[in-house]
Amino acid sequence: MIIREEIIAGIERRNGSQPEFVQAVGEVVDSLGGLLAKRPEYADGALLERMVEPERQIMFRVAWVDDAGQVQVNRGYRIEFNSALGPYKGGLRFHPSVNLSVVKFLGFEQIFKNALTGQMIGGGKGGSDFDPHGKSDAEVMRFCQAFMTELHRHIGALTDVPAGDIGVGGREIGYLYGQYKRIVNRFEAGVLTGKGLDWGGSLARTEATGYGLVMFAREMLAAKGDSLDGKKVAISGSGNVAIYAAQKAQALGATVVTVSDSAGAVYDPAGIDVELLKQVKEVERGRVLDYAQRLGGSAQYLEGARPWGAADVDVALPCATQNELDEADMATLIQGGVKLVAEGANMPLTNEAIDAAKAAGVLYAPGKAANAGGVATSALEMAQNAGFAKWSFEEVEGKLDQIMRDIHSASLEAADAVGAPGDYQVGANVAGFIKVADAMLAQGVM
Ligand code: GLU
Repeated sequence: MIIREEIIAGIERRNGSQPEFVQAVGEVVDSLGGLLAKRPEYADGALLERMVEPERQIMFRVAWVDDAGQVQVNRGYRIEFNSALGPYKGGLRFHPSVNLSVVKFLGFEQIFKNALTGQMIGGGKGGSDFDPHGKSDAEVMRFCQAFMTELHRHIGALTDVPAGDIGVGGREIGYLYGQYKRIVNRFEAGVLTGKGLDWGGSLARTEATGYGLVMFAREMLAAKGDSLDGKKVAISGSGNVAIYAAQKAQALGATVVTVSDSAGAVYDPAGIDVELLKQVKEVERGRVLDYAQRLGGSAQYLEGARPWGAADVDVALPCATQNELDEADMATLIQGGVKLVAEGANMPLTNEAIDAAKAAGVLYAPGKAANAGGVATSALEMAQNAGFAKWSFEEVEGKLDQIMRDIHSASLEAADAVGAPGDYQVGANVAGFIKVADAMLAQGVM
């Protein structure tokens, strides 16, 4: 039987040090023990070795001219990881921390996340070490145009369909789509998702990751006869996922007492004012400090702090970035009586934090399951584009809700089947893995 050490040694031999990627692979492989014991065919045919080797890795120079007339050079990435279930699908991240290890971990997780949605999407991810913060709109546009000038030859509605992630929102998708359209001279709406509503975008795509996360948490609590009504919720981050998670959680009767960014956290026992947060973050491109100063009242700004120690909360939704919540943070949350932690970001908990949560009996949902609503709704956008259709907000949100319920029940059923009842981490990994593995076995060695 293939063991974790062999897989990891193989990755390190081929790639050198890629800590985030190794972490993400280790997390999945560790979950598969029960399944591989029951179904040894999944350990044969170098299936796992093939899964951890991307089908294609693209790296390219992105040169662009800043407002001062200086030439800037960044690196672009697109990892086309696995196409067993559909065209490569996954976001683009523009952030200084982006490197090959980060893009590969994100692409690897995306394979199983996308499988869990039950839709026809393979796994991929891309991005650049470009930092949109502090850049003018014109600089962001020139960067996006330069990035797409190379990327366009690798993507397509039936080949590879990028979308947003950290640092890539509606503005960036607009510039990227415009450049793609100009180069290929065709209005191929299905080549990107997260588009504007008048040019092929889907209603509810903007809200989908945050809404889906809260729908998943709602299902987890419902399975225990509980609900979000009256719960105190800590959210980290203040981007797209955090904003719409806060909105949905408060719509379901919870009070969201924190949001944060890399400079600090806001604590407000009265609950986050989502409309003001949207205005400050999305329109003015400001910080949570600006939000707290503008709101005044009971909102407290905690310079340099993370949100986990700000209050005793029932629910924690990390929605910022990878490895943002470690074992010490988890100890703080457990001490405060946290009942549920669900990942809105990709891999926000360290493996030690996950183990600590599970050991303390805290309900824990991995991002692959809990934040899959974003990419699932991207697939709904692709379906609308393929049919030149436009569905109502209610229709898309209704489908999203059903997808999140289905991922929840599939995760619990898979966990039961491999002897890990109630373990969402094992269940999500097993359920996603089986879909990808069966398709790869059916499609032959490649
Ligand atoms: N970046 C999001 C994720 O991590 C969405 C990807 C997409 O819509 O393709 O799943």
